Amino acid sequence: MLGAVPDRYGYSGGEIGHDIYFSMARGNATQPAMEMTKWFDTNYHFIVPELSPSMKFSYGSRKAVSEYKEAKAIGIDTVPVLIGPVSYLLLSKPAKGVEKSFTTLSLLGQILPIYKEVIAELKEAGASWIQFDEPTLVLDLSSHQLEAFSYAYSELESSLSSLNAVIQTYFADVPAEAYKTVTALSSISGFGFDLVRGSQTLELIKSYFPAGKYLFAGVVDGRNIWANDIASSLCTLQALEAIVGRDKLVVSTSCSLLHTAVDLANESQLDDEIKSWLAFAAQKIVEVNTLARALAGQKDEQYFAANAAALASRRASPRVIDEEVRKAVAGLKGSDHRRAMSVGARLEEQQKKLSLPVLPTTTIGSFPQTVELRRIRREYKANKISEEEYERALKEEMQKVVSLQEELDIDVLVHGEPERNDMVEYFGEQLSGFALLVNGWVQSYGSRCVKPPIIFGDVGRPRPMTVSWSTAAQGMTARPMKGMLTGPVTLLNWSFVRDDQPRSETCYQIALAIKKEVEDLEAAGIQVIQIDEAALREGLPLRKSDQPSYLAWAVHAFRITNCAVKDSTQIHTHMCYSNFNEIIPSIMEMDADVVTIENSRSDEKLLAAFGGGGAVKYGGGIGPGVYDVHSPRVPEAAEIVGRIGKMAGLLDWRLLWVNPDCGLKTRRYSEVRPALANMVAAAKLLRVDL
Ligand code: GLN
Ligand code: ZN
Repeated sequence: MLGAVPDRYGYSGGEIGHDIYFSMARGNATQPAMEMTKWFDTNYHFIVPELSPSMKFSYGSRKAVSEYKEAKAIGIDTVPVLIGPVSYLLLSKPAKGVEKSFTTLSLLGQILPIYKEVIAELKEAGASWIQFDEPTLVLDLSSHQLEAFSYAYSELESSLSSLNAVIQTYFADVPAEAYKTVTALSSISGFGFDLVRGSQTLELIKSYFPAGKYLFAGVVDGRNIWANDIASSLCTLQALEAIVGRDKLVVSTSCSLLHTAVDLANESQLDDEIKSWLAFAAQKIVEVNTLARALAGQKDEQYFAANAAALASRRASPRVIDEEVRKAVAGLKGSDHRRAMSVGARLEEQQKKLSLPVLPTTTIGSFPQTVELRRIRREYKANKISEEEYERALKEEMQKVVSLQEELDIDVLVHGEPERNDMVEYFGEQLSGFALLVNGWVQSYGSRCVKPPIIFGDVGRPRPMTVSWSTAAQGMTARPMKGMLTGPVTLLNWSFVRDDQPRSETCYQIALAIKKEVEDLEAAGIQVIQIDEAALREGLPLRKSDQPSYLAWAVHAFRITNCAVKDSTQIHTHMCYSNFNEIIPSIMEMDADVVTIENSRSDEKLLAAFGGGGAVKYGGGIGPGVYDVHSPRVPEAAEIVGRIGKMAGLLDWRLLWVNPDCGLKTRRYSEVRPALANMVAAAKLLRVDL
């Protein structure tokens, strides 16, 4: 909309076409894509705008207006939603090479004229409300950043006259200072707050709300799949009504419905009892309407009664409780769960068995999920082929993956994860306390979606989940084969989690389940076990004050999974897609023997911190990804040599591992084979010099 296209994509004004749009998001033959990062603490991603003082903004896309008109033409009057100007800039980053003193916020004056144009066109088209999303208001902002809101919305004042504008915040409490700033904006008619995650915001509203303004009360959780407690929501709304007035209270969801599943009606595999506990997007809209009607004096008694009965059945259900699991979690209290030896000493023990060369090579776990593999899984799930046939096909696939790795001369092998549809769903299918969805897709980025499982009860591990696959794969090679697990924090953060106990409690339950699996793998002779924690960073609370306690229990849960293995068993962990800098001390606290991380889009500061530039020097092995797996591009060996060389300058080369950024699941063999060959060649070239 703002025409903020970096120079390298060759945009020369006018409406931005799909070619440029896709180049920015995915890269093209000559130019890499822009950075993609997670939207706050969700698993949704956005493309980070790259701005510089010389950026020429222009009205580049009329999408907001044309979509408003399109809906209107079929008789639906919508509220157009724009990302607010201040959040837009605060979520942008300075382009490479611009002066350190430059802040993206300094461009505010340059983007406001375009917002004015868009507002004028929307008004012209007949819009009576416009929503500005300003979710950055829930972060820890400086007073200078807060002033930008006052400036921006007073600049927009005349454009917004004869129109209602609402500023929407979500995902957390709005701090008191920010609340004061935003509710003082005279050009704005309504303010929207997340009253599910923002429990303290309610107190702020009770202590003050500007007269004559609308309150958009987000009482229905947009981030989860649980049915709302509508009697309790009605109470909250009635209290708010007394403050803001009946005609100024708008019932709303806590945030957009992008982060939840679409419609419960599509879940043919869930039993009726569990279904009665749930509400997906379509059901949440009914909840919102039912609440609004109840406030207006038309209470649907039947609906309220059914809702109360469903909540009571969930509270009392024996399916939710596993006494043994509860006892085990209670038994964890007060203990720190650490391995006995220091990581340095452990690595020595492990090396006696593994005899790895310097710069050992490995991959992150998955190999390409081919069309053929997906077909076999589909047929197996549809009962078209037998369990034996399915197993045989997967083992053949594993054999291919193992042979390929041997041929490429990789040091620590993986089985390729052909049996897994998804790294979370696969474990959700086998752990108790989880329910699986068949159509509950949630967008992650682009056309990529995930189907988060639901954790409705205490989590246990009835039987081994990966041992037979891992031992079969180990049986195919004399080289070490990594056992491959998803860690407790990632299983938690990538599921829809029960809301009737603290997340930490659920995480500890999962940790104990994974611990059993780790120990069974070890007992079956697996010497290297990787426990992926791809989503640890994503769960980091948005406000600094909430972060230490999350990190403490998350890291503790990870340590629980492997605290009891032998010193000679090597524990790896892997993390991806994240901005780690602020959590490096916590990564070290996880005390894994080797950590592999995404690196191709991160900076050198990160590595410097691991190498001792930060507060603590990390003594474990570290494998910063040497090439980007999210692009089809095959890196040359020389390029990889350069990268490893740089890393060896920042880190202790004796601790360095050589691996791609992440799993290879989404790539083709025609890309994977040459890329890995070049990676191994690069490691070998460097070994000669070391
Ligand atoms: N082991 C997983 C894989 O390779 C890790 C995926 C991830 O980090 N997202 O697919
Ligand atoms: Zn990864």
